Amino acid sequence: DFSVSLPQNGNDELGDLAHSISRLANDLKYLKQERIDFLASISHELRTPLTYIKGYADIVHSRNLSIEDRDKYLNIIREEANRLSDLIKDLFDLAKMDKNSFIIQKRYLDLTDFMLKIKQKFTPAFKEKEMELKVSCPEDLFIMADPSRLEQIIFNLLDNAIKYSPSGAKTLLTVSRKKKDIYIKIKDNGKGIPEEDLPYILNRFYRVDKSRTRSLGGTGLGLSIVKELVLAHGGKISVKSKEGKGTEFELIFKGAG
Ligand code: ADP
Repeated sequence: DFSVSLPQNGNDELGDLAHSISRLANDLKYLKQERIDFLASISHELRTPLTYIKGYADIVHSRNLSIEDRDKYLNIIREEANRLSDLIKDLFDLAKMDKNSFIIQKRYLDLTDFMLKIKQKFTPAFKEKEMELKVSCPEDLFIMADPSRLEQIIFNLLDNAIKYSPSGAKTLLTVSRKKKDIYIKIKDNGKGIPEEDLPYILNRFYRVDKSRTRSLGGTGLGLSIVKELVLAHGGKISVKSKEGKGTEFELIFKGAG
């Protein structure tokens, strides 16, 4: 237990010190609890796919199944193994970020060019769900950023826009500049996020709908990775959403040149 109480004897400096120490103790307590919660979530998240894999492997092994059933179960095993490998990759990334051993290799990037490539790369995934991706970026916008990390940020946000929107929906990726700041906005008109969930949405493993999200195949870590990557670039992230209307993520980076 980290709780500390120091006598408050009217001496202002000592009082301030006591106050700081007790605030620090509270922070430590919070961090300790957060670590315990995180570890509990990790073991839960790892155990669930493993339970499926073991269960279906036993069935395939021990029963005489029709070819269709066998294929169905093998497919589940493959999907769950993929989920495990995504999860381990995400956890590994986050662990590196926590240790500050995460290397961001910033380069001078032409955003117009970069966004054009993003559009080409992601359009097929949107088409597959009969959705539309509109990208708008003015000419001559430059930024200092790690291109593969910036792509990962945008990938995670667009991937969510696809997952949490019905077919026929539209996503806008808009880049603009205000003074020296570059704004990247990703706006969808999908299912939106309830107001009570919004403050927690960038936290690790936080999901609005635990059961439904599982069938969509996310790790629950996508947005927390986005947040860490944006902060590692010295940027800012915010989110606005209305349930049933849609969601908008806004990223702010320092422009270059
Ligand atoms: P997941 O792997 O579950 O998608 P994320 O960290 O990427 O994990 O997102 C956390 C949760 O935030 C999701 O489970 C979903 O409930 C909600 N969410 C994220 N993006 C959107 C979006 N564009 N529209 C609606 N809900 C979203």
